Amino acid sequence: MNIVTYEEVQGIKFPVNPIVKYMSVYIYYIDGLLIDTGPRLGKRKLAKIYKDWDINQVAITHYHSDHTGMVKWLERHKKLDIFCSEETIHIVNHRWELSTFEKLFSTRFNGRVYEDMLRTPNFSFIPIKTPGHTDDHTALYEPNKGWLFTGDLYVSPFPKVCLKEESISDYISSLDQLTKLDVSTIFCAHEGIISNGKKMLKKKHMYLEKMRNEVVRLHGLGFDDRAIVKKLLPDKVKLEVLTFGSFSRLHFVRSCYRDLEK
Ligand SMILES: [Zn+2]
Repeated sequence: MNIVTYEEVQGIKFPVNPIVKYMSVYIYYIDGLLIDTGPRLGKRKLAKIYKDWDINQVAITHYHSDHTGMVKWLERHKKLDIFCSEETIHIVNHRWELSTFEKLFSTRFNGRVYEDMLRTPNFSFIPIKTPGHTDDHTALYEPNKGWLFTGDLYVSPFPKVCLKEESISDYISSLDQLTKLDVSTIFCAHEGIISNGKKMLKKKHMYLEKMRNEVVRLHGLGFDDRAIVKKLLPDKVKLEVLTFGSFSRLHFVRSCYRDLEK
């Protein structure tokens, strides 16, 4: 674990799973506001930091347990408001519908639905609904600074795998909105701090549109999903192996045409 600083923002870099350290999660803290809370498996180390920080507001980007894992601890030990989307509230209150992994690790909490603006003494954040990675996903934009806290929406400009629940079409619509903003810096929950924010968002937007068009074309020609994977994404991706196929190229391909057929 280490702490990175960028302008007025502090970020904690923490392994998603402290046992299998293949991926990190970044939790950001600015002016009394904590954006996401980190995994429950990191309780001992994260609680130590949270005790020292004067956190009075928490913003949740989406329900996944590496983002909400410590929310219960914060609720119990600090006097603060927890903001999230109404979709997040619905999901955490219907946890039995989630995958086994999320059922085990996600938590219920008393969240308040985001208002138009989330203010701290020195900054203002606009919550923006950005489905794609999950239906409840919210990004936070600080227009004066050009900061965009993207949760799990960005992660890579050229993704080759996705979860079953992810929607490539929703990603494209969300990126459509975000690329219109004046973004200087992306604060990504897994890749850290990324400069050239607007350019990188555009890259991902263009890549996903291109991939979706290509998948839809091949699907229309009668290629099956595996044949499309072989053609467009022939190389095995490390994340597929590490997550036992939860993230996969097949999910990616299916998602490209699934939403268009609804
Ligand atoms: Zn996530």
